[in-house]
Amino acid sequence: MTEQATAAGKAFMYTIGCQMNVLDSELALASLQGDGLSVVDNVKDADVLLVNTCSVREKAEEKAYSWLGRMKLLKRENPDIVIGVLGCMAQKEGQLIFRRAPYVDIVAGTAHFTKIDDYVRQVRATGKRILAIGRDEEVETERRLKARETRHSAFVAVMRGCDHHCTYCVVPNTRGMETSRPLEEIVEECKILVGEGTQEITLLGQNIDSYGKRLQPRRRTLSELLYAVSDVPGLKRLRFITSHPSDLKPELFAAFRDLPNLMPYLHFPAQSGSNDVLKRMRRGYTFDRYMELVTAAREAVPDIGLAGDTIVGFCGETEEDFERTVELHEKTRYQNAYIFMYSERDYTPAKDQGLADDVPFEEKKRRVNYLIERQREWSLAENQKHVGKTIEVFGEGPSKRDAARQEGRSPQNQIVIVGSGRDLTGQFYRAEITSATEAALYGRLC
Ligand code: SF4
Repeated sequence: MTEQATAAGKAFMYTIGCQMNVLDSELALASLQGDGLSVVDNVKDADVLLVNTCSVREKAEEKAYSWLGRMKLLKRENPDIVIGVLGCMAQKEGQLIFRRAPYVDIVAGTAHFTKIDDYVRQVRATGKRILAIGRDEEVETERRLKARETRHSAFVAVMRGCDHHCTYCVVPNTRGMETSRPLEEIVEECKILVGEGTQEITLLGQNIDSYGKRLQPRRRTLSELLYAVSDVPGLKRLRFITSHPSDLKPELFAAFRDLPNLMPYLHFPAQSGSNDVLKRMRRGYTFDRYMELVTAAREAVPDIGLAGDTIVGFCGETEEDFERTVELHEKTRYQNAYIFMYSERDYTPAKDQGLADDVPFEEKKRRVNYLIERQREWSLAENQKHVGKTIEVFGEGPSKRDAARQEGRSPQNQIVIVGSGRDLTGQFYRAEITSATEAALYGRLC
């Protein structure tokens, strides 16, 4: 490792997976910026190449490995480049990553992303690679705000890990048991963010309804947290993800009613509509219970936008089971839903208990395509309800597809596209909705 290699440099981060990973990537890059590195968005300009990984499906892991394969070529040209793998796959695979990709220098698990600056420094100084997947240390969540790219909106992690053991899920293995951050610390961070110009905050938790369960000296609840954060002066929009139907408490709906800056959007995955499958998934609720919550949500917040996640083709799923899932989607009227085929994962209860992945691939594909097609119709119908209305939009900037248009979000978190020559990033504006697709609302500025 030559002398200049230990000097600062440029870092590139490729993030795969959920919003929690997006936030973790931001915190990891902040630690490097604290060390004098700058962040670049082209791998060719970087001398530190990082991928923050996801293990929820095989496809996500393969994506990380194929990216690493491409980075190997850059390292062949410049051996001083440092390559690091972070996140859930790093936590789950550990040493195996070095075997499959021997040119990787750092494997850092889900409790180590804020120490990446130390690890890069060590690799540069010693040339030795680093494996850091222990989970005995506290995740350092102190945020170096100056490092943030998007100023107008921010994710704030309120807890990490999950106590549920849904049989298909690797998260409890990769992120550990639930740990909640003190309410006061979260409120303080939100105040600083708003002081920095943030107008929309999304609170993150794998299973956010059980926020505060183990906090000392006294237990806290998600509702308490929402009331406290919503009180932060200057905060225009507050959101939270992801809910769990068996932990969701009815008092939450009162918060939607009482808090004007709490946006009417609820992401609460059902995963299946069949009681037998829900039992095998160990989700802890039934079709009827889920529909009770949907009804309660719609009664308390008539204009609420509901979003879901569904796994099709789980172990033992029959055609009748699948029809119940279709029925649940039809009755819930999701605004949008993420629908996936079951992907068997190591280190999950389903694999450990030998639950057979017995739905043939072609049948899984038929079912997932069918449900996606039907859900498109329901999403379109939900979005079309907004045609003719004038709504408030929060600007996210030029549309990714058409720079002459601006993209933003409705209170229900729908994408809203309007024509405008001005950059409306971080601004609130009103739009009259003139048309809709299953994926977005289209309108004109008022
Ligand atoms: S609630 Fe279930 S699916 Fe969600 S993170 Fe926890 S174990 Fe995974």
